[in-house]
Amino acid sequence: MTAAADLIVTNAEVHTLTDPDTVHEAVAVRDGEIVRLGDADELTFLEGVETDVLHCEGRVVLSGFIDAHTHMEQLGQHLVHADLSSADSAESCVDLLTEQAHDDPDREHVLGFGYDESAWDGSRTQPLTRDELDRVSEERPVVALRVDLHTVSLNTAALEAFADDLPDDDLRYAEGEPTGVAVEDAAEAVRSQLTAGREEMREVLTAAMAHAVELGVTGVHDKVRGSRAPQIYRELAADGELPIRVRLDYWSDHLESLVDVGLSTNTGGDRVRTGAIKSFSDGSFGSRTARVREPYADAETDGDNVRGQWVVDPDELASVTDRASDEEFQICVHAIGDEAIEETLSLLEETPNATTARHRIEHAELVTDDHLERMAEAGIVASMQPNFHRWADEGGLYDQRLGRERRNRTNRLRRVLEADVPLAFGSDCMPLDPLLGLQYAVNAGTEAQRLSVTEALRAYTHGAAYAGFDEDRLGTLEVGKRADLVVLEESPWDHSERIDEIDVATTVVDGEIVFDALS
Ligand SMILES: [Zn+2]
Repeated sequence: MTAAADLIVTNAEVHTLTDPDTVHEAVAVRDGEIVRLGDADELTFLEGVETDVLHCEGRVVLSGFIDAHTHMEQLGQHLVHADLSSADSAESCVDLLTEQAHDDPDREHVLGFGYDESAWDGSRTQPLTRDELDRVSEERPVVALRVDLHTVSLNTAALEAFADDLPDDDLRYAEGEPTGVAVEDAAEAVRSQLTAGREEMREVLTAAMAHAVELGVTGVHDKVRGSRAPQIYRELAADGELPIRVRLDYWSDHLESLVDVGLSTNTGGDRVRTGAIKSFSDGSFGSRTARVREPYADAETDGDNVRGQWVVDPDELASVTDRASDEEFQICVHAIGDEAIEETLSLLEETPNATTARHRIEHAELVTDDHLERMAEAGIVASMQPNFHRWADEGGLYDQRLGRERRNRTNRLRRVLEADVPLAFGSDCMPLDPLLGLQYAVNAGTEAQRLSVTEALRAYTHGAAYAGFDEDRLGTLEVGKRADLVVLEESPWDHSERIDEIDVATTVVDGEIVFDALS
């Protein structure tokens, strides 16, 4: 006699998201594992008295979304502190920060996250300034972080509070006075000073993961640096309070400590695993710090920065990739501009473990056809963010920074697939929202940038699983795989022009319901 299932999801349109995709009416789960797919009638024999049955009334069921590039700590901070991502002017940032200062009077710093001056009304190109933030408070340090985290704005009190930690080279000045704008190393120094203690980290990560499951996310590849996040994730997992799966991609300065304690790529348990060693090459288009072959279209001076800059210079990056590959680590490198991708790719191709390590280029926004050919050859994963297409509008950020011709060559998702480069989707938490990313992937401006619904869904499930060596247990709905599922209110195939408006009904991780919109 067959043991009963713990959970049966039925009367659904279950997409396996295998290649090719196949559709079933029901899926049965036992001990967190998928044990059967088939017609609703066929699976009733697995129904016992203890079996939970989820009747979906025809709704679409997919493998849960895996976000291959997250910053959960920052996401949680957005949720706990002022969220500036929807502000449309400096004025509204100042208002939101002032509100936060009033609502949370005992916190040492007044913090705001995610502003993006390129999206504001008017033609502002400069980040928030010290003078603007001084209007929030003259006594408490006020810090506003730009959406890409490579630029941070500080008021006078914050400039004073962090003075000892800020490298002068990365502070912007006007007429001999600091403008309050800090970039790259200075921005990083501010961020690490703000890193939360144990209690707050638990609050912040818990808020971020609760938000993630509401959006159908069942796993993340989280980028961590110099914080307690890894420790807190492991504690939450041990306490049975980690709702999703977390793969930790560690900033390169953690490498020697990881080696010392015997952690390497793919070690860990069912919920928390060690992923790649992460480094950077360049910055971002928003901050004009992404390294490009041809000058920025809106370069303001003839100085060094007209083609962007290295965040980690190529020699230093080479020593990271050498050392990490010696220790058999997977490596992921942030590279956005075409020149940064060239440098990064040249290093990754040469690593001794290149063919098996599934090294990753994060973002790869201005990847060329030649790069793609070489990536396919070397087995390097393109870890891309379809939501970055939000900057590809006429007159948008890419147009301003890169001009029309290069704008049309950004994030060419279809070209990546055509070149047989493994494609993993993530959000970079800008914002974390797979259905929004899917909307952009399916409706992008040019054919080379656009995917079909099925292709886009596969990049957010199987593709991301592959980038995390997880394709044998996650990313598709097949017998023997872990039961990480999402139930959608409407079909993305039937509503491909408004996928971002589709709601998540239920999210299941390892056979347990972790989010249910109805309860
Ligand atoms: Zn990132």
